[in-house]
Amino acid sequence: MKHPASTAVEDRSPPYSPPTAMPYRSWVEVSRAQIAANFEAIRSAVGPSVEVMPVVKADAYRHGAVEVSRVLEAKGARWLAVSNTEEGIALRDAGIQARILVMADFLPFTREAMLAYDLTPVIHSLADLAELNRLAVTRSVRYRCHLKIDSGMGRLGVRNNASEIAASIREASEVEVEGLMTHFASSANYTSEQTDEQLEYFEQLAAELRSANLCPSVLHASSTIPIAYGRTPAWKQMVRPGHAIYGYISPARGHAPPKILQVKPALSWRATVLSLKDVPAGVLVGYGGMFRTERLTRLAVLAAGYADGIPHRLGNRGSVIVRGKLAPIVGAVSMDLTTVDVTGSEIKVGEAVTLLGREGNTSIDAQQIARWAGTISYSVLCGIHARVKRIYI
Ligand SMILES: *Cc1c(COP(=O)(O)O)cnc(C)c1O
Repeated sequence: MKHPASTAVEDRSPPYSPPTAMPYRSWVEVSRAQIAANFEAIRSAVGPSVEVMPVVKADAYRHGAVEVSRVLEAKGARWLAVSNTEEGIALRDAGIQARILVMADFLPFTREAMLAYDLTPVIHSLADLAELNRLAVTRSVRYRCHLKIDSGMGRLGVRNNASEIAASIREASEVEVEGLMTHFASSANYTSEQTDEQLEYFEQLAAELRSANLCPSVLHASSTIPIAYGRTPAWKQMVRPGHAIYGYISPARGHAPPKILQVKPALSWRATVLSLKDVPAGVLVGYGGMFRTERLTRLAVLAAGYADGIPHRLGNRGSVIVRGKLAPIVGAVSMDLTTVDVTGSEIKVGEAVTLLGREGNTSIDAQQIARWAGTISYSVLCGIHARVKRIYI
C-alpha cells in the first residue's frame, strides 16, 4: 500500500523540538499568544473603523470557547459570535461581558434563556421579529437583534423584499434592529460571480431601508475569506472572522487578489505512544488487514483514534510527526488507536507524537490533514473530540 504524495513540510535533519510528554492519551495545546496575535493581525488588516467580532462557535472551533473568549476580551474584543444559546450561556457563566451574537438559534425553546442571558439573537424571519417584539411589549423591555438577509446563499435569512422588511422593522417598535447581516456562499471562489451578486443584493436592500430611515447601523457580511483576500466593499461596519482567529485562511480558487492577512495556527495536537513492537515483513496491520508490512517494521500504537477526531480516512493515507520526522499511518485508524510505522526511530512508549503541529522544521496543519482525508480544515478542527484534553500555553 503506497501513501499519497505528501505535501507536508519535512526537514529530515535534526534538531527538532519534541513535544513535552503529558499524562494524557491525547491532548491539544492552544497558544493564547497566537490567538491574540491573530486577532491583532485581523484588526490591523481591517483598520480601526471596522469592528472585529471573532466567531467562537463550536467551542471556538474546538480550541475552547471560554479560554479563547477570555483572551479576545482581554485584547479588546467588544463582540463575540456563537451559534446557539447554550454556547452563549457558557460564555456568560464564565464571566464574559462582551456583546454575544447568537447566529443560528431563536428556537422556541431557547428564546427565554437567550434573552435572560443578554445574548443578542440573529433573527431569520419576519415572523420571529414580530415575536421578539411581542416579548418586548409584554415585558416592557427593549430587545436588540440583528436581522439576517438571505442574499443568495439559500440558507438562513429573510428573502422578503425591502418594503416588507421595512414594514416589519417599523412594526417592531420595541425591538432595536441594530445589525443587518448576510453570509456569502462562495467567497473563496474567484471564478464565481456569486459573492458580487450577493453583495449587490445586500447593498441594494440596505439602501432601500436607508431611504426609509430604517437601516440598522451595523452592517456585516465578511467571514475570514473576504477579510483575508481584501474584499473591502464587503467589510462594512463589522467583520466576523472565525478560521483566521485560529490561524487558518483557506486557499482561494481562480484569480484571487493577494492575501492581506497573515495568521498562524494556534493549536497543536499530540498523542502518546501506547505500545511499540517490531514485526517481520508480511504482517497484516489493523482492521481489515488494510496494510501489509514490506520489511522488518517497528510499529507504534498511538493512544488516539477516530473517537478522538483523527479522521478515519487517514488510514493508510496520513502521517504524524515522530521525533521530528513524518511517520506514515499504517492500516485503518481505529476508534481509540492509530498505528504508525516508526521504523528507524528511537521513540519510546510514553513519548508524545504530533498529530497536528510542528516539531522543528516538520509540520502538519489542519489543511494538510484535510487534504489527506478528503475533507475541509474546519471539519478537522471541529472533529477534535471533547475527550482530548485542552492545555493552554
Ligand atoms: C462560522 C461563521 C463565520 C466565520 O466563518 P470563518 O470562515 O470561519 O471565518 C462567519 N459568519 C457566519 C454566519 C458563520 O456561520
